[in-house]
Amino acid sequence: MIGGGPASLTVARDLMPLGYDCTVYEKDPQAGGLMRTNIPSFRLPVGVIDEEVDRILDFGVVKKFNQEVKSLKVILDEDYDAIFIGTGAPKGKDLNIPGRHEASNNIHVGIDWLTSVAFKHIDKIGQRVVVIGGGNTAMDCCRTSLRLGGKDVKVTVRSPKSDMKASDWEIEEAELEGIPIFDNHSPKEFIHENGKLKGVLFEKMKAEYNDGKRTLTATGETVLFECDDVLLAIGQENAFPWIERDIGIEFNQWEQPIVDKTTFQSTQPRVFFGGDAAWGPENIIWAVAHGHQAAISIDNFCQNKDLKDRPSPLTNLVSQKMGIHEWSYPNDISNDDRFAVPHADIETSLTDLNLEVELGYDEKLAFDEAQRCLNCDIQTVFTENLCIECDACVDICPIDCINFTHNDTEENLRKKLTVPALNLTQDILVSETLKTGRVMVKDEDMCLHCGLCAERCPTGAWDMQKFTYIESHAKKSTISEYVE
Ligand SMILES: Cc1cc2nc3c(=O)[nH]c(=O)nc-3n(C[C@H](O)[C@H](O)[C@H](O)COP(=O)(O)OP(=O)(O)OC[C@H]3O[C@@H](n4cnc5c(N)ncnc54)[C@H](O)[C@@H]3O)c2cc1C
Ligand code: SF4
Ligand code: SF4
Repeated sequence: MIGGGPASLTVARDLMPLGYDCTVYEKDPQAGGLMRTNIPSFRLPVGVIDEEVDRILDFGVVKKFNQEVKSLKVILDEDYDAIFIGTGAPKGKDLNIPGRHEASNNIHVGIDWLTSVAFKHIDKIGQRVVVIGGGNTAMDCCRTSLRLGGKDVKVTVRSPKSDMKASDWEIEEAELEGIPIFDNHSPKEFIHENGKLKGVLFEKMKAEYNDGKRTLTATGETVLFECDDVLLAIGQENAFPWIERDIGIEFNQWEQPIVDKTTFQSTQPRVFFGGDAAWGPENIIWAVAHGHQAAISIDNFCQNKDLKDRPSPLTNLVSQKMGIHEWSYPNDISNDDRFAVPHADIETSLTDLNLEVELGYDEKLAFDEAQRCLNCDIQTVFTENLCIECDACVDICPIDCINFTHNDTEENLRKKLTVPALNLTQDILVSETLKTGRVMVKDEDMCLHCGLCAERCPTGAWDMQKFTYIESHAKKSTISEYVE
């Protein structure tokens, strides 16, 4: 594995128990990838990363840390049976506008700066900080700046705030810490005096939307934000200067490797890609999902099996009936809004880079939040030959989503239900023909999973069954590993 982020670690986690010897090359002193170097410790504590990463490394992974791979050819020449590239998207985009070169001492590429903070190479920043960019990296940069001495920290973004790429909850957290966001501001020039950064000149933009397409036009109005430091958080790309272009790995016109979307194999059969390195920046859970799929391929490859012959995901349906009117899940839906996660005291948080901001739920809050679950994994299952068409379920369904009617085209059926099923993105369930020649039609979009139909049905034609879906892993999964 090249790169020690979540994608590579997942491959090792799946292959080691199958008896493979796994070696991880990582240029940093520790594994974890961006989880360790970029996600600030006040959001993801180092102790949590250590625990989870070590659990995998302790399987016996050979650790080649502090070793940057500078030539894939060299690795290919070693006798590894397969190579997984999980090197992420390590190149932060730069902003080449006037003044960038001259004032470079105080203009930092956000992801590199966050890495330096994580490895304690940087522990302070100027009091006035301008963060340029509207994604999650920008939110982590501005919140980290506040904890390293920034007093007047602002975020600027070219687009309207509603189009910002950062997740709503990340924006909310930054704003809660008092960080203003200036939208429709496009950077024009870094202002400096003899190389000392003085500020950033912005041009105000106006957004227009036509047929869903946005155009940003400059208004001509400019504004200067004085500052001591600038953090650039305007995107990331993958970069492979260390992959020779004559070893069988093909790249597309954007210099991205050509990777099979199912097998994660590159055009050089021994080399697989996954995580941010494969198709650009995503998130941890995507990297993990890629790792599981790549491990299946590598296992097949090493066993001389067809890479497309992949284990199916595990699916299962189990009745939740505990008694006549009793289910193994609580079906009384709560009307509460989402409960906010309690936060550490803001004054203390801002003085401690490592203090986790989100405290998590206590027992009561966790219980109340869990009660909001709509039980979408519990399905209503209809058995035609048990139904005596008494219509009791129709009477009791609180939202009238069960209908007995004569069959028709889907378009007509949708219109003639008691409550017409107008959401075409959601299927309707149409049963086989029943004894009276009618069919049972249920609008799945409406169902509350309350189980009243199954409680009321005198014959058990309705049942509430729990659906389980488990992604396939390199090893054949068994349901007992996941379901008690
Ligand atoms: C600021 C920021 C905040 C984020 N916050 C979140 C979040 O809250 N939740 C979330 O799900 N995702 C978040 N992400 C995204 C997430 O971190 C990544 O999508 C994920 O870590 C990608 O995993 P990966 O294994 O593909 O690569 P990475 O995590 O990038 O790991 C790649 C590893 O490869 C190493 N490497 C690179 N080149 C070489 C080489 N030539 N030789 C040896 N080693 C090499 C790197 O040092 C690195 O350790 C965030 C990203 C950033 C930048
Ligand atoms: S589970 Fe509730 S909402 Fe869904 S069909 Fe049955 S009675 Fe109607
Ligand atoms: S309550 Fe049961 S038997 Fe009666 S109509 Fe509904 S499914 Fe059929």
